[in-house]
Formats: sequence, C-alpha cells, structure tokens
Amino acid sequence: MLISTPPNSIMDAAVFHGHERITIERVAIPDLGKGDVLVRVLRTALCGSDFKLWHRGAAFTAGHEIFGVVEQPGHPMHGKRCAVYIPLHCDRCAACKRGDTQMCLEVSSLIGWNRPGGYAEYVPVPENCLLPVPDDIEDSLAPLLLDVIGTSGHAVRFVNRIVSPQQAGPVLVTGAGPVGLGVVLALKSCGYDDIRVADPNVVRLKIAQSFGAKPHPVGDSSERFALIVECSGAHAARNLGIEVVLPHGAVVLVGENAAPWTIAEGPVFRRKDFYMIRTFYFPLADFASNIELLRRHKEEYRQLVDGEFGLSALPENFARFAQGELIKPVLALD
Ligand SMILES: [Zn+2]
Ligand SMILES: [Zn+2]
Repeated sequence: MLISTPPNSIMDAAVFHGHERITIERVAIPDLGKGDVLVRVLRTALCGSDFKLWHRGAAFTAGHEIFGVVEQPGHPMHGKRCAVYIPLHCDRCAACKRGDTQMCLEVSSLIGWNRPGGYAEYVPVPENCLLPVPDDIEDSLAPLLLDVIGTSGHAVRFVNRIVSPQQAGPVLVTGAGPVGLGVVLALKSCGYDDIRVADPNVVRLKIAQSFGAKPHPVGDSSERFALIVECSGAHAARNLGIEVVLPHGAVVLVGENAAPWTIAEGPVFRRKDFYMIRTFYFPLADFASNIELLRRHKEEYRQLVDGEFGLSALPENFARFAQGELIKPVLALD
C-alpha cells in the first residue's frame, strides 16, 4: 500500500551536527517509501551507540529505540501502538526465511542510521518493521523491548545452546550499562543463578546487585569462567574475557566499539578451545519473548528509565547522558 505524506508537512526533529552539537529544527516529514507507514513517535530511548553520531554528525535523523502509534488513516495498523524493529529485511532471502531477520542477506539498512530515525515527531517505517505492543506495557518502557531487552535476550538465548545454566557455574558480565543490566535479567530468567558483574560505575553496580548479581572487580583475572558476556565494548574487557574463559567456554561480544580492536595472538589466545561469539540485535520472532521478559521483570526494567523529557530538552539531556549521569533516558513526545 502506498500512501503519500501530505505535501508541506513539517515536524520538529533533532539535528545532530557533529562536535557534540544538537539543535531542534522544523524539517519536512520524510517521504514514505513503498510499503512504509507513518509512525507518530511517542518515546525514543537514548542509546550510547548514538555517541558516534553526536561526535561526527548524522546524515539522517538519529534515534533507533522507537515506540509510537501508526498514523496512517485507512491502513489496517492505523492507531496501533508499535515498537519499531530497526533492521530492514526482505522476508524472502535464506536468512529471513530462517527467521534471522536482523541479518537479511538482501537489504542492510537500519532505521535511525541509514534512514530517518526517532528523535523526531514522525518516522516512516516499513510495514514489516512494526511490532505491536500490548496495552499492559506502558509507553515509557516500550522502547526497552528493543535494545535493552531484545539485544540482551537474544545474546543469552543464543549462548544458552552452547553453555547451559547447568554447565555454566558463575557467569561474568562485563559492563553494566543498559544492555549489561538487561543481560543480567535475561540470564536470571534463563536459569543462570550465579551472576557476577564488573563495572567501574558504583551506581550501575548497585542496580546489578539489586537484580541479584554479585560485584566482580574490574580487570580481575584471578577467577575463570565458562561463560562471559562482554557488554562494555572496551578492548581491555574483551581481552580479559579471552584470557579468563575456561576451555570449552564462551565469550559473547555484545558491546560495540568504533575503534579497531587487535587480538594479540599469544599463548592465552592460541592454546585453548573456546567459543568467541558475536550476536547482533534480535530476530523479529523473539519479540513475544521480549514482552514476556519485560512482564516478568517490569519493576527492575523501570529502574533503568531515569529521565524523561521533550525534544527541546534533548540537547542538554543527551550531554548529561554522555557524561554517564543517566542510564536509559527516554525522549517523550506527548
Ligand atoms: Zn541502541
Ligand atoms: Zn532477507
């Protein structure tokens, strides 16, 4: 179905200029492509991966943890509350057919990165990227179903096949940002009951402890683990994971880092059978499990959302977020 945007429609959107400068401007509502519908943004969660765009500038409107309501009169989804699945996917290739929609072999484009995103009043979204959100999930928690719950949940479900809760013993999580804290809750739900968390930030560590994890000293190599979930993206943490992973164990690389990472091929790396796993985002069909995870740990996830503000306050709050003052602030457009 192709419904075009009314001509001369304008909206407020954040513009990332680079050099840590964001302004709020009146811009044209982006044109709808074939198969797109218009979503009126209600909430977009801020994400550490946007720091790249904050420093360098963004070619498209940033914001990729988006929740809103379909505003497309005449469309069957009109008025539906939806989260936005950001990887475009063809639904036809071998990866899509297997369910690996986040790794489509035909299209490689992410909403908020390679096309307009959610730090704006409206965002065009392909129909197959609309994820209906049940009414018992409040607006402010809905964006967590994506990166915080989806990315962490997928990583844990993936590695669960390789190092089960019965085999794991203590599990080390490095980095207690929103995804790391999400990993703690996903591990708990999967039956891993001895979770250690390393992070230099005491506030985040306290939250991890309130989720049932035990603190682990940053950089400590005195203890070895069958399962390490690396969520900081820090090269030192990745290298430590390779060092302390037990034979036949797994290091899961969930954190991201824009700087090149070199692995020193010394005996520590060479003389061991182990799994080094990268997981990305989550398959579309996991969304129902993400909703279940949120329902099971709603109070815990609610603790992560520690700021909510409108577009005009985004520039100052993005700076506070970049300083590490906020864990998972959410832009609210009501
Ligand atoms: Zn994100
Ligand atoms: Zn595909």
